[in-house]
Amino acid sequence: MPTYAYRCADCGHAFDIVQSFSENSLTVCPECAGVLRKQFGSVGVTFKGSGFYRTDSRASGSSAAPGKPAAKAAESVKSKAKSAAKAA
Ligand SMILES: [Zn+2]
Repeated sequence: MPTYAYRCADCGHAFDIVQSFSENSLTVCPECAGVLRKQFGSVGVTFKGSGFYRTDSRASGSSAAPGKPAAKAAESVKSKAKSAAKAA
């Protein structure tokens, strides 16, 4: 289960809490009943990081990228159109 970090916007009280995805975010400070803000990027990084890393290595992989041939084709069409316009 991911750990979320919260910080109270009113009194500055900060704490971490383990919540499942289905649980609602906390919004009320347990100390002063002020407005809680969820802190991103501090605790949940390792949890999300592996996913990003996998996407990264796949994108930089040479041949198996599905988006590349289409982009190349579009490029050649563009340059064809350009030369056609030049010729005309
Ligand atoms: Zn508070």
